[in-house]
Amino acid sequence: MPTRRKFLTSSASLGLLAAGRPLEAASLPPSAPLGKALVISTWDTGLAANLGAWKILSKGGHALDAAEAGVMVTEASQNCCVGLGGNPDREGIVTLDACIMDDQFNCGSVAALERIKHPISVARRVMERTPHVMLVGEGAQQFAVAQGFPLEPQKLSPDAEKAYREWLKTSAYQPIINVENTRGSKPTGPVGGANNHDTIALLAQDGQGRLSGSCTTSGMGFKMRGRLGDSPLIGSGLFVDNAVGAAAATGQGEDVIRMAGAHTVVEFMRQGLSPKAACEAAIKRLAQIKGSKAHDIQVCFIAVNKQGQHGAYALQKGFSYAVCDDKNQQQLLQSDYLLT
Ligand code: ASP
Repeated sequence: MPTRRKFLTSSASLGLLAAGRPLEAASLPPSAPLGKALVISTWDTGLAANLGAWKILSKGGHALDAAEAGVMVTEASQNCCVGLGGNPDREGIVTLDACIMDDQFNCGSVAALERIKHPISVARRVMERTPHVMLVGEGAQQFAVAQGFPLEPQKLSPDAEKAYREWLKTSAYQPIINVENTRGSKPTGPVGGANNHDTIALLAQDGQGRLSGSCTTSGMGFKMRGRLGDSPLIGSGLFVDNAVGAAAATGQGEDVIRMAGAHTVVEFMRQGLSPKAACEAAIKRLAQIKGSKAHDIQVCFIAVNKQGQHGAYALQKGFSYAVCDDKNQQQLLQSDYLLT
């Protein structure tokens, strides 16, 4: 993994593009003309996720398949905040939340799912093979096993084990805003430091203009047992309206839920705002709701619209997001933010 310093230096030599504030750009494997094909996802972990999604889109695949495949890359990596390598809850158990939505208002979700490597794929099965939208806890796990997903050992990754032991020294739950998901860094500090909560949310538009999205996380590190955030909630962590656009969130889940975050962003786009302006309007609404407490949290939105435009906006400094587009280019962009 390059250090952040090298990363910025190399990006400076690449002649970066104008949208947002680029941190890095790289060429993608050439593909057939893809129309409006586009993938956008949260944080620098989105770079690898986007490539996973792009493999599907570049072959003319469906946005839904791309949305699933992209975040599976992150779920399989040893990430502090997504998948089974994530930080556990207060009881030392990793519980995973995920949701997925296609261009037809079909959606599926799992929450508090244990010992399953790919919660996003279980969410998709909920969508495709049950009459329901959401399964939680034991029932979600039973369903996953019945669908053939292997039950993985109940074991923390070495990094999560270390972070949990550290947290146990105080057992204090004081969420810290995620200023930046620094590349290659490990969770630090008693509550996981600046990296203790993070999520991969990915929005894809395929060559035929169909939109889909996915969102998956282990949630806040050392959360109360049973705590759910926004990430498994359609309308909060993710929302797709194929006639208008799609949006997704990362950050303090409780605050995304209280304003139905992703749905709010899509509704702003329906009123005519660009994706970035819609994210900004939603962040401003949240700041109004939170008042002086807005400084204690981080919330970030990404969005795409039907025309293939994309954008993002965050409450605080430090949010980056990755974009692949039909110019066969991948960029990591630094989001604008509200509070200084
Ligand atoms: N939104 C996630 C949650 O609240 C965490 C994050 O994205 O940082 O569980």
